[in-house]
Amino acid sequence: MENVEIGQVFREVADLLEIQEANPFRVRAYRNAIRTIEAHAVPMRKLVEQGADLTELPSIGKGMAENIEELVNTGGLAILEELAEEIPEGLIDLMKLPGLGPKKARKLWDQLGVESIEDLEEAAGEGRVAELSGFGKKTEERILQGIQNYRTNTARFRLGEVDELLPPLIEHMSAVPGVTRLEVAGSYRRRRETVGDIDLLVLADDAVAASEGLTGFSGVERVIGAGGTKTSVMLRSGLQVDLRVVPSESWGAALIYFTGSKEHNIKLRQRALDRHLRVSEYGVFEIPDESLGDALGERGVASEGELVAGETEEDVYDALDLPWFPPEMRTDRGEIAAADDDGLPRLIEETDLKGDVHMHTTWSDGRNTLEEMVEACQARGYEYMAITDHSKALAMVEGLDAEKLAKQWIEIDEVQARHPGIRILKGMEVDILKDGTLDLEDEMLEQLDVVIVSVHSFFGLPRVEQTDRVLKALAHPSAKIFGHPTGRIINRRGPIEIEIDEILGACAEHGVAVEVNSHPNRLDLRDTHLWRARELGVPVLVTTDAHRTDELDLAHYGVEQARRAWLEAEHVLNTRGVEAFLAALGQGRGPLGG
Ligand SMILES: [Zn+2]
Ligand SMILES: [Zn+2]
Repeated sequence: MENVEIGQVFREVADLLEIQEANPFRVRAYRNAIRTIEAHAVPMRKLVEQGADLTELPSIGKGMAENIEELVNTGGLAILEELAEEIPEGLIDLMKLPGLGPKKARKLWDQLGVESIEDLEEAAGEGRVAELSGFGKKTEERILQGIQNYRTNTARFRLGEVDELLPPLIEHMSAVPGVTRLEVAGSYRRRRETVGDIDLLVLADDAVAASEGLTGFSGVERVIGAGGTKTSVMLRSGLQVDLRVVPSESWGAALIYFTGSKEHNIKLRQRALDRHLRVSEYGVFEIPDESLGDALGERGVASEGELVAGETEEDVYDALDLPWFPPEMRTDRGEIAAADDDGLPRLIEETDLKGDVHMHTTWSDGRNTLEEMVEACQARGYEYMAITDHSKALAMVEGLDAEKLAKQWIEIDEVQARHPGIRILKGMEVDILKDGTLDLEDEMLEQLDVVIVSVHSFFGLPRVEQTDRVLKALAHPSAKIFGHPTGRIINRRGPIEIEIDEILGACAEHGVAVEVNSHPNRLDLRDTHLWRARELGVPVLVTTDAHRTDELDLAHYGVEQARRAWLEAEHVLNTRGVEAFLAALGQGRGPLGG
């Protein structure tokens, strides 16, 4: 049981308790525990195994520690089962829709007898939801839209969750006798922000042993199908894993076949046919002229024609007169034409980053002190960093007002003196207030090296109002970076409604950079918007928004996201040295510069 799964169970308990109108403190105890568990770098199961005292963790009391132990030891939780008996299971799904919390779910259940998404869809379709007090016509429309989005997205896991769920499986499968090679393909390898299921390819002497290895994994809930070279299982977490045993002469072809999007693979098949070749998961084969018609149809089988390539990805692509494509590019967005024309972009890499300029400290809602963050950035080899705590509008995290910010500058100067090896920039993540003004006085803003402007409130404003609000903030002469521009939390909260093209146009005009927030729950901007940003010449930043030292390690997610939008190092400002970075931000002379 991984931390992400424990979080899932606790979240369900908290939601059910809230529907049940239980004591709010009890609910909060679960929610706080989730934050601790999901953010903890060491798996709870390891801590339980070692007999560690879980109550030493923040927000984990005695009862919560017992819950964790129960989950780790038994895979289940008695309280959840009790709650599930009292409350229809479908109500949990309801709360995954935007704008529907436990209170509204409860009301829908009490007053309309809604017990599932299907019930809700019916009630909303008949206009009965709009009639409930506190709902209204707009909410009803949002609900119907939300149901549609839910159906297209929910089967998918966030990339970060999968990265947590996979290592025990990989470790287990690598130890299966006869397995000599193992690779996860699919959208996971393309580093898509969400992953539907796992395509696990193995090279193995014994396909049966490999299959039994998977079905014998402790995380398996049920076997969907096993036999031949393919085995499918459902993990307890809800993640489906499809194992394929691949012969070595087809390894590269299978890897390409199971990594590329459907459209990328179609393009490859067409290209192969143009060259009298046929490409499949088994390899590239020559087509004898007389059987060309067959190859176009469904009947093509691996035994036909001579194998031209298959063992490595490079061989397969080369047989089609193509270079090897980074997995992030294999989505048919013009990569094949680009390879034919002027060559592929040299995608940005994590090692290109020279600094991280969005992070929080204990001055606001970060867990580590300013100096600890500085040391962690230095340990990562960064040339510079920016401290960007919250502004005062975020009262619940004790954001900084001008007076506190000035005090922080004194500390930054002191820490800077102790750490001459890294340049510490003074910054702030300033709230965009409801009317589009910024949550800090101009004379303070002017003294900052790095000003990120972000939306943290009024997420539900209508499109025109929300767009105007952001446009006004971006036009402020001190605004330098637009933080997590759409505000979405993947699978939890939809994006704010803004005219993204207009926003990106304004960024280009004012020289405001857009952020790729690397947190795997955010990944904001998303790839298609970054693509547009690149087209419009909007500068981009890859930052972590770290609230703890270990979150600085999330930078690779932002880089992967940028790669999916074909961004090169030159498009990303924090690949530049500190002076060039500041100059590009339009701010060559900050308080520390000059
Ligand atoms: Zn923020
Ligand atoms: Zn932040």
